[in-house]
Amino acid sequence: MNSPSAATAPEPGFTLSYGYGTDRGLSRELNEDSLIAEDPVFAVADGMGGHEAGEIASALCVRTLGSMPQLASGVRSATAVAMQECILAADFQIRNATGGRAGTTLTGVVVAEHMGVPYWLVMNIGDSRTYRVSGGDFRQISVDHSEVQELVEAGSITRDEAMVHPRRHVVTRALGTGGANEADFWLLPIQDGDRMLICSDGLTGELSDEHLFRILSTVDKPQDAVDTLIQEALLSGGRDNITAIVVDARIG
Ligand code: MG
Repeated sequence: MNSPSAATAPEPGFTLSYGYGTDRGLSRELNEDSLIAEDPVFAVADGMGGHEAGEIASALCVRTLGSMPQLASGVRSATAVAMQECILAADFQIRNATGGRAGTTLTGVVVAEHMGVPYWLVMNIGDSRTYRVSGGDFRQISVDHSEVQELVEAGSITRDEAMVHPRRHVVTRALGTGGANEADFWLLPIQDGDRMLICSDGLTGELSDEHLFRILSTVDKPQDAVDTLIQEALLSGGRDNITAIVVDARIG
């Protein structure tokens, strides 16, 4: 019993604290976003498709993640390979349930420990986002799978222009739609004081990166930060469903 448990036991003094919230916003009839915030998995899914199908797609997606054997038991042993298998299973279930009429994005982090070192395993498919505040630096980790992101990378438009571009909501990868369904992954060693933000485009469509960073760097408690982010997005117009998770890590 001794050696196997050493790989999965939490790092001494390693603690996570987190908050989360979701809001229908001011102009959508339904909230088609879903979230899961259960150590070690923190993820947001933004469903699309009419007549509640988007809601089914995003809910199925996070439920599939939550039932993964590597995550359901609270064990921190997930790998990108295991996550990709789980994401493909979610894709299959969504297509079965909605007949390809609905899809969902997915982004977030899984806390994984390898050789006693804790990591953020960041995953993304679509245009929901995962950001990291680390050592005073604020950075978007996930790269959007969207038409406007491709235009930004080609140098055709700026990031500011992408925020107001008429095709800014068109995603190039999603789960459940029968199209491209591969997720991207990043493995980042967790630093003491790291703060992760995982959110749907209802937040980033309303607030600039500078605005997000201002809130994340001034509001101490994760739940207060989430509540402030959602309130500010509503004040800015709340044109889409808004979902946010904030996760703080302390080591030592
Ligand atoms: Mg959305």
